[in-house]
Amino acid sequence: MDSLWIYVSDIFEPMFQTSLDQPQISTRFYCVPTRNLRRSISQLSLDTYTVLATLMLRSFCARSALLPTGAACPSTFAPISIRTYASESKGEFDLLVIGGGPGGYVAAIKAAQLGLKTACIDKRGSLGGTCLNVGCIPSKSMLNNSHIYHTILHDTKNRGIEVSDVKLNLQAMMKAKESSVKSLTSGIEMLFKKNGVQYIKGSGKLVGDHEVQVKPLEGDKDTIFRAKNIIIATGSEATPFPGLEFDEKHIVSSTGALELSTVPKKMIVIGGGIIGLEMGSVWSRLGADVTVVEYMDSIGAGMDAETSKQFQKIMAKQGIKFKLNTKVLGGRVENGIAKVDVEAAKGGKAETIEADVVLVAIGRRPYTDNLGLENVGIEKDEKGRIIIDQEYRTSTRHVRVIGDVTFGAMLAHKAEEEGIAAVEYMHFGHGHVNYATIPSVMYTHPEVAWVGQTEQQVKESGRAFKVGAFPFAANSRAKTNVDFQGQVKFIADKETDRILGVHIIGPNAGEMISEAVLAMEYGASCEDIGRTCHAHPTLSEAFKEAAMATYGKAIHF
Ligand SMILES: Cc1cc2nc3c(=O)[nH]c(=O)nc-3n(C[C@H](O)[C@H](O)[C@H](O)COP(=O)(O)OP(=O)(O)OC[C@H]3O[C@@H](n4cnc5c(N)ncnc54)[C@H](O)[C@@H]3O)c2cc1C
Repeated sequence: MDSLWIYVSDIFEPMFQTSLDQPQISTRFYCVPTRNLRRSISQLSLDTYTVLATLMLRSFCARSALLPTGAACPSTFAPISIRTYASESKGEFDLLVIGGGPGGYVAAIKAAQLGLKTACIDKRGSLGGTCLNVGCIPSKSMLNNSHIYHTILHDTKNRGIEVSDVKLNLQAMMKAKESSVKSLTSGIEMLFKKNGVQYIKGSGKLVGDHEVQVKPLEGDKDTIFRAKNIIIATGSEATPFPGLEFDEKHIVSSTGALELSTVPKKMIVIGGGIIGLEMGSVWSRLGADVTVVEYMDSIGAGMDAETSKQFQKIMAKQGIKFKLNTKVLGGRVENGIAKVDVEAAKGGKAETIEADVVLVAIGRRPYTDNLGLENVGIEKDEKGRIIIDQEYRTSTRHVRVIGDVTFGAMLAHKAEEEGIAAVEYMHFGHGHVNYATIPSVMYTHPEVAWVGQTEQQVKESGRAFKVGAFPFAANSRAKTNVDFQGQVKFIADKETDRILGVHIIGPNAGEMISEAVLAMEYGASCEDIGRTCHAHPTLSEAFKEAAMATYGKAIHF
C-alpha cells in the first residue's frame, strides 16, 4: 500500500498539518504516502503518534474490512468506504473512458493493464486530445524549431559558425510539427492495441447510469455501450473573449496560432499566461512584432513574483512588448486588420491598438458540450467544472472525472496522474496524486519552471522561511554554452530546512524541475540536495548551489 486516506478531526488537524504537511484534498481528508508517514513519524510528539496510530489502524481496518467500524475506533473518524463492483450493474465493459487526451488515454491503458475490459471513446479522430493534437506537442515543435531558426539568425557568429542565406520555410516548419503530432498520436493507437484497449471513434453521450451513446465519426448509426464504470476526460476549450469571435484567421485561439500560414507583421496577444507567452515567443522569433496585453500587473499567471519580473525583462530584451495593467474592452476586424480597444485596468484613457493577428489566450474552460450530464444528474460548478469528490467520483458514484474538465491545474501531466489514480481508486479502493508537487513549465527560451509555493504564498502563510538563489551566469556549463540567463531559487522552511518551493528560469528548467519535484515528494531538505553529488559540468550544479545558498553559502557565487 503506498498511500492512506486519513480523516482528521477538528482537534488534531492543526497538529497533523504541521507534523506531516500533506496536501489536504477536501475538508479534513489528507492523502498520505506511507513512506512519508514512516519518515515523519519519528518527528511527531507522543500525542500525535497515538492519534496517527489510531488513524492508521482505522484506515487499514476500513480497507481490509477485517475489523468492524464502531467501538474499536473513535467515532469522529468516519469509515473510509471501499468501492467494489458488486453494487453495479453488469455491463459490456468494465470501464468506458470518454475522451482520449492525456487523462483519458492513460486511464484506459492503466485499466487494461489491470485486466479490465476497457474502451476509450474520442470524437477527434486522432488520439492524444488537446495535448498531442493542438496543445503541448505542436506548440513545443514550433517553440523548438523557431528557437533554432532564431539562434541561427542571431547567435552563431560568436560561436564560430558562419551561416548565410538563412530562410524561413514556414510550410516546412508546419509539416515538421504535423509529423511529430502524427507519430505521437498514432503511437497512442499502437499502445491501445498493445494493451487491448478498444478505441471507439465518435462522440459519447451519457444516456443512462451505465450507458453511453456513441455517434460515430463515420456512418450515422448510433450505438449504445454499457459499462460498470465510466471515466469522463473530455478536457477543455479556449475561453473566447466576449465581442472578439474566433475566426482563426485574424482573431485566433491557440489552435489558430499554431496554424498561421504567414508570419504576421504585428500580433497582439491577449493574456500573459503560459500559452500566450509561448505562442507570442514563437511568432516573435519568426519575425512578428508582438505585444502582450495583460490585465494584471505581472505576467506568467501563478509564477513567483520575482521570477515573473526577471522573466519579463528577458522577454522584453527579446523584443516582446508588454502592456500590463491593461483592460481589453473589445475589438473588431476591419479590412483585414484586427483592432483591439484597451484602457488602463484602473480606468483611464482608452486607445485602439491594431494587428494582423490577435491571439486570445485568456484561459481555458471545461468542455462538456453534448455530454449528457443532465441525463444522469451530474452537476457542474459555476465555472463549468464537473463536481467530484476526493476519489474523482461524481454524485453518480461509478462515474469519475479527471483532467481539465474538473478542478485543478489544466496540465497534461496532472490529467495523466489523475487518470492512473482514478483507475486505482476504482480497482483497488485507493489511489494517490500529490497536488502539492505538480510542476509548471513555460517552454520559452529560457524556460521557466516551478513547483510548490511561491515566496508570496509562503509569506502569507506566516511561516518563517529562507531563500537561496544561484544565477546561471555563475554556472560553468551555462557559461560554456553561452546560454546563461536566469537563476534557480529555493524557498525553504527556516527551522526544518524543508523545501517549500523551487523556481527556475534557465536553459532546460523544465527538465531540472523534476529534481525539485522528487526532492519534495520525499520531503527533502535543502541540505539533502546540497550534499548530493551533481555531475560537473552540468546545469544541475546551479540547482545544487541554490540549495546550498539557503542554509550556508554557494561555492561559485
Ligand atoms: C497551446 C497549448 C499548449 C499546451 N501546452 C501544455 C504543456 O506544455 N504542458 C502541459 O502539461 N499542458 C499543456 N497544455 C494543456 C494540456 O493540453 C491539457 O491540460 C491536457 O490536454 C488536458 O488533458 P485532458 O485529458 O483532460 O483533456 P484533452 O487533452 O482536452 O482531451 C479531451 C479529449 O476528449 C474528446 N472529447 C470531448 N468530448 C467528447 C465526447 N463527448 N465524446 C468523445 N470525445 C470527446 C476531445 O476531442 C479530446 O480529444 C497546453 C494546452 C494548449 C491549448
